[in-house]
Amino acid sequence: MIQLYHVHKRYPNGCDALTDVTLRVREGEFVFLTGPSGAGKSTLLRLLLVMERATDGQILIGGRNIHVLRDASVPYLRRNIGVVFQDFRLIPRRTVFDNVAIALEIMGLKRKEIERRVGQLLEGLRLIHRAGAYPGDLSGGEQQRVAIARALVNEPAILLADEPTGNLDPDLGHDIMNLLLDVNRRGTTVVVATHDHTLIERYGLRTLVLSRGALTEDRPRTGRALLNHNERAAPGNTAPTLGNPLAASLAPAVAPARTPDEEAPDPSPAPSATEPAEAP
Ligand code: ADP
Repeated sequence: MIQLYHVHKRYPNGCDALTDVTLRVREGEFVFLTGPSGAGKSTLLRLLLVMERATDGQILIGGRNIHVLRDASVPYLRRNIGVVFQDFRLIPRRTVFDNVAIALEIMGLKRKEIERRVGQLLEGLRLIHRAGAYPGDLSGGEQQRVAIARALVNEPAILLADEPTGNLDPDLGHDIMNLLLDVNRRGTTVVVATHDHTLIERYGLRTLVLSRGALTEDRPRTGRALLNHNERAAPGNTAPTLGNPLAASLAPAVAPARTPDEEAPDPSPAPSATEPAEAP
């Protein structure tokens, strides 16, 4: 789903933010991207979103070479990538509903369809009772759930999250993690950038470690993620999940929309699409 080959990013000021990074994230995987502040995590996410261009190397997303993507094609790529930031980035003067609806409005969907999709998503995230509220009236955890709803409303194949629990206390951070795990269990490829070691150790998911721009470690998952998830999903637990049946039709698109040009063959065959999301 995501492949980097010898990627290098040098900013105009001469800072080498990424050096010779080669990695692969398979369809349906959940991956932590970690490393100390300044290691290059945000730069890597920005390259995936084509907010920055690599100086050297190749990046393939869904088999498409984004290194040669024309600027005009970038919005099509981004429709398949949801993004969540540490500081939520909600629009203060828009209601919860309107914050989530904005991407669909830009895509020109009919009002009825927007209402159906946003309503369904807010229902699944247990936010429907807050649909008319403004971001300033919400708790941090609720704001991050709205940000996740906004990122998911396009049904993206990939969800990127940059320190999504960074502004939340540990319990709320755990709820957000469970939500992201739930999204992943429905087939979305999830990449979470975080420098929070406690979070990483708690879940035992595959972890890519960056250090001064270089990929220094690729730790496989230990399988504890499933255990943790089930613990929280036990009866009586009130953690928000996408388990609501109304959200059942929110299975994400499995492949990014393509334009006829800019296709690149995938140099290493992708695993079967039926590979379970929880497999090691
Ligand atoms: P992280 O997200 O791991 O904290 P970043 O990707 O933000 O790391 O930064 C990696 C390196 O690139 C740092 O040395 C940072 O100072 C530098 N950097 C990030 N953005 C820019 C930029 N726009 N211009 C110049 N240098 C930058």
